[in-house]
Amino acid sequence: MEDCIFCKIVSKEIAANVIYEDTNTIAFLDLNPRNPGHTLVITKQHYATIFEIPEEIIADVYRTVKKISKPLKETVNADGMNTVQSNIVSQGVHHFHTHVIPRFWDDNMPIVWESHHAADRVELMAIAEKVKRLLG
Ligand SMILES: [Zn+2]
Repeated sequence: MEDCIFCKIVSKEIAANVIYEDTNTIAFLDLNPRNPGHTLVITKQHYATIFEIPEEIIADVYRTVKKISKPLKETVNADGMNTVQSNIVSQGVHHFHTHVIPRFWDDNMPIVWESHHAADRVELMAIAEKVKRLLG
């Protein structure tokens, strides 16, 4: 897609520190890392969000996430790892990507969400029933 920075990384129009590449995915180091080794795994084809991406391609993305995780953890001597994927809200680049962020016990990185309150059981049941109905 024209003017998409991630498509330009795929086409090598923009240089990136690529650590892994296969038929449908590419993994490269984030230029503004939250922690050392912060990596983005993206699709080679342009899909904006999880709502457009085909199941087999998202499976390829997470195969790549799994493949790079251990070598990445070992490289930066991390204690753990977060994988974060945003769609529309909190999505900086509208080309499907998953952040793979090495974590350290003392990195002071906030959790993505704060716990709120105990759920309303009736609301939980209504949401579960509606999603199950939409899944068919
Ligand atoms: Zn793109």
